[in-house]
Amino acid sequence: MSDYRIETKCIQSGWHPGNGESRVLPIYQSTTFKYGSTEEMGRLFDLEEEGYFYTRLQNPTNDAVAAKIADLEGGVAGILTSSGQAATFYAVFNICEAGDHVICTSAIYGGTLNLLGVTLKKLGIQCTFVDADASEEELEKAFLPNTKAVFAESISNPALVVLDIEKFARLAHRHGVPLLVDNTFATPVNCRPFEWGADIVTHSTTKYMDGHAVQVGGAIVDSGNFDWEAHREKFPGLTTPDESYHGIVYTQKFGKKAYITKITSQLQRDLGAVPSPMNSFLLNLGLESLPLRVERHCYNAGKAAEFLNSHPKVASVNYAGLPGDKYHELAKKYMPKGTCGVISFELKGGREPAVRFMDGLKMAAIVTHVADARTSVLHPASHTHRQLNDEQLKAAGISPGMIRLSVGIEHIEDIIADLSQALEQA
Ligand SMILES: *Cc1c(COP(=O)(O)O)cnc(C)c1O
Repeated sequence: MSDYRIETKCIQSGWHPGNGESRVLPIYQSTTFKYGSTEEMGRLFDLEEEGYFYTRLQNPTNDAVAAKIADLEGGVAGILTSSGQAATFYAVFNICEAGDHVICTSAIYGGTLNLLGVTLKKLGIQCTFVDADASEEELEKAFLPNTKAVFAESISNPALVVLDIEKFARLAHRHGVPLLVDNTFATPVNCRPFEWGADIVTHSTTKYMDGHAVQVGGAIVDSGNFDWEAHREKFPGLTTPDESYHGIVYTQKFGKKAYITKITSQLQRDLGAVPSPMNSFLLNLGLESLPLRVERHCYNAGKAAEFLNSHPKVASVNYAGLPGDKYHELAKKYMPKGTCGVISFELKGGREPAVRFMDGLKMAAIVTHVADARTSVLHPASHTHRQLNDEQLKAAGISPGMIRLSVGIEHIEDIIADLSQALEQA
């Protein structure tokens, strides 16, 4: 499979039916799977054989879609979770425990900021937030002896900071820890973090991958490149016997698939954030048209960004696709085909005109969502990042008047007409 181009993989990867089997990925809407003997099922429980027995651990529909996403990213193994939040949690918790420390960029999704900064702290895992644009020397200072992972977004939601992936990979590897990249906004169509040194990729599949706003889901993919054994003292969960699995050592038994196998057999078993097979089926339909949609999202967003940028009522526009944007050069390097369909911008006068503009939109809807076919808007300061104080907002790259516009795949002239009439009312 891996020689095909991404457009082909989006259609062909994951599900490979045999003779007489369903051409389309079937929905295995079943909790359980039948076996002929106690012995056969026992071997599955011991991880001695691969096979399905209970959907919380593995399900054929979920696995086919996970395999497709792993192929799109160029990884060796993948797993689906019930949300992007669960994917982030698993990706970090799989290699961190109480007493450990992670580093995360501060311009990051609001849910990730809370998860790493507040909730993981309650589990004894500390997080240091760093400025993605800081120099390597500055970033060095964030590393501690107990640092186990570095986490960042390829394009941050909603600040639209483009990550210098090579810089972060160098730093992480110098300290013997993996770089985890949330690639939700760029999607593997526009950016493949593994090609720049990232080790693990996470997704909220709720966004462009689904693209129709019909399911909440997440995914984790392992590049297979990080050498856990070379840093075995840092990652005992992977490199020493797992007592809950008869003393299996994941790196020894599963090699390059150790990290994902541990998530499946420990975290899914014990925490259970598993997607419904029906949702994975819907996600798979979205994946089939992902390259076409992403191309149109980027085209439309580029036009909308140009329109806003030249409008007298607009103070500033953030869109890395726009020449002159602070992140334009990084975007050209890491995502030469385009960035994403999300733009953030600020009206002159800040918060009040922003609210009037949003209330004046006729087609674009105010929703807590981004990255689907429909154009939508959100006011981060009063919605997704409502819990943050002004200082935290600033660190996350968000000002009180910032509007996040998710440009859909409607006709661009209809989108611009709607923006234009709402700006008149702002
Ligand atoms: C939405 C989002 C998440 C969280 O995903 P859910 O599917 O909503 O749980 C994580 N990261 C990014 C970049 C997101 O946009």
